[in-house]
Amino acid sequence: MTKPPLIWTNVILFSITTLAAITLLPWYGYQYGFETATWISFGLLSVYSGLSITAGYHRLWSHKAFQAHPIVRLIFALGGALALQNSALHWCSDHRIHHKHVDDNDKDPYSAKRGFWYSHIGWMLRDYQGSRYGDYRNVRDLSQDPIVAWQHKHYLLLVIIMNIGLPLLLGMIFGQIWGMLLLAGLGRLVLVHHCTFFINSLAHIWGSQPYTQKNTARDNGLIALLTYGEGYHNFHHLFEYDYRNGIRWWQYDPTKWLINLLAWGGLASKLRTCPEENIAQARITAQLELLKQRLSQFHDNEQLIANLQKEYEHLKYLLVQYYQAKKALLDAKRKKLVDQQLLTTVTNLRAELIKQQKIWKNITAYYKSSHQS
Ligand SMILES: [Zn+2]
Ligand SMILES: [Zn+2]
Repeated sequence: MTKPPLIWTNVILFSITTLAAITLLPWYGYQYGFETATWISFGLLSVYSGLSITAGYHRLWSHKAFQAHPIVRLIFALGGALALQNSALHWCSDHRIHHKHVDDNDKDPYSAKRGFWYSHIGWMLRDYQGSRYGDYRNVRDLSQDPIVAWQHKHYLLLVIIMNIGLPLLLGMIFGQIWGMLLLAGLGRLVLVHHCTFFINSLAHIWGSQPYTQKNTARDNGLIALLTYGEGYHNFHHLFEYDYRNGIRWWQYDPTKWLINLLAWGGLASKLRTCPEENIAQARITAQLELLKQRLSQFHDNEQLIANLQKEYEHLKYLLVQYYQAKKALLDAKRKKLVDQQLLTTVTNLRAELIKQQKIWKNITAYYKSSHQS
């Protein structure tokens, strides 16, 4: 099969920026060194452009996981131009298709099933989806946002202002023009490019699948470190409207922390989360499926699978009962109608659920260790 034609703009852009970043940048650093202010600008612009993609392009605009004040949207739009990953409108259109058709080699723009290279950068180097380039029907809602529309219209100019104008200005202020252009401009651009691209490549290849095995998305704490929290990608593909990717307090998700901070300051609102009950159910269902697959490789497994299924059904039943009772209690509290019977029901169900969760944990751990493939 003949490959589609190369997109020369992208090929040249990625080649020149990468080559210059691995040759000119270290040469300059070796010859002249970088000022502290240049290093700080590099760090701040990296975080700014990275978070504009994860919090702005991704969670705000692609998934509408929260709403943001126009000032915040403007800051994200400028940071998105700094990240040089196409306009928000285009990026979100691609990303919505990625979620809708994940792993479909013909429809998913960066299907990880086509390999690491393709999903990381290859998909941008050839005209694989030329026929739908410019088809923005799936982001009609976003074109109503005047800031998104403005950024899309003036994208090239904004890219030049943010990637050359801003480092130039900082360089003039701090007295190291070339150093600033190379480190805070170029080095930062290449670094943030690859960190974001890891979400499409590595986060679909390397890690665990605690919530679903229906697609290639993975959870990986190490990738979260490089991607401002987007490494919890298995969770994200199942609960895409949730403003969090790392849902546990100890999981590294600075994008979530930023959104929380904005909400606290009154600059973000309507933060969406998926019901705890659905998340807990997805987890146990994924565990059940994984163990069933493992047990099916062994003989005489019917009884083991039947046992596992029984404990799973009971746990699922208790989960539903507990969350229903908890909801009823919350409603009653709101109406100031709490009675003792309801309180006792919730307490008892909670105790039963914890007990069954322990049984489930033990049985799954036992089967895992006794039936290693
Ligand atoms: Zn993905
Ligand atoms: Zn997404």
